Formats: sequence, structure tokens, C-alpha cells
Amino acid sequence: MRFIVTNELGKLAKRLRILGFDTIEYENAKTPELIIKALADDRIIVTRSKSVGEKLPKGTIVLASTDIDEQVRVLCEKLNLKIAKEKMFTRCTLCNEELINVPKDKIEKLVPPRVYEAQEIFKKCPRCGKIYWQGSHLESINNLIDKIQRGK
Ligand SMILES: [Zn+2]
Repeated sequence: MRFIVTNELGKLAKRLRILGFDTIEYENAKTPELIIKALADDRIIVTRSKSVGEKLPKGTIVLASTDIDEQVRVLCEKLNLKIAKEKMFTRCTLCNEELINVPKDKIEKLVPPRVYEAQEIFKKCPRCGKIYWQGSHLESINNLIDKIQRGK
């Protein structure tokens, strides 16, 4: 499932990427273009703007809450989203690119020594170059899953 979120939901976009969902942000307020983009890419539109939401096609998700945890919970509920640990840690939280595996020996100078020692699997964003490793997300991921499940 892929998403396009309007620009007031930047935090949500980041969170969805952490959870492994392909999510782009839509910067301006021209709804026809937003709809075309969503259709072209087969993305679900998510917005917090009621006035924008009214002009958008069926299936658009209009969120009421400003709370990020609540927003994720509502999305999961409405779309019956499955949060899977193995899907997390697959996408750059900044650019939405899919991460690529990088051999450990290529990474030594790019991460803190304690991380290099402790981790075996490293991934890199092909666009911005940000390095990810399991530990960089894991704790927050477990918290996220707890929060989503507690909300139900
Ligand atoms: Zn990136």
C-alpha cells in the first residue's frame, strides 16, 4: 500500500516510511494535481485538511487528530494495515528511497565504532547516502508496535 500525504502531515510521512510504506509528500495545495499524482502512482491520499478532503476522491483518508501515534493508529484501523517488523528498516525516512545492502567492510569509516562492532547488517540510502542499521530503529519500532496495538 502506497501513500501520498499533504504537506501538513510531514511527520506522518516519516513515520510511515519507518514502518516500510512507500510515502511521498505533496507540497502544494492544488488538488487536481494531487489527484492525478495519486492515481498515476496508485497511492492513497491522506490529509488533515477537511476542505481539501471534501474535494478528493472516495478512499481519501481525512485524519482529525494532530497526534502522530493516533494518526498511525487510525490509518491502520481504516485500511487494515499490517505492521510487519520485517518491512521496517527498508526505506529511507528522509527520501522514501528503498535502502540497499552495504557490505560491512565498506562501512567502517562511516559509522561510530561501537555501532560497527555491534551490528552485522548495514543499509544505505542510494539517494542521500544515509546509513541505517538495525539498532538505529529497533527500539523505536518496538515502541511503535506497542502503541499501535495498545490503541486497539
Ligand atoms: Zn535518503
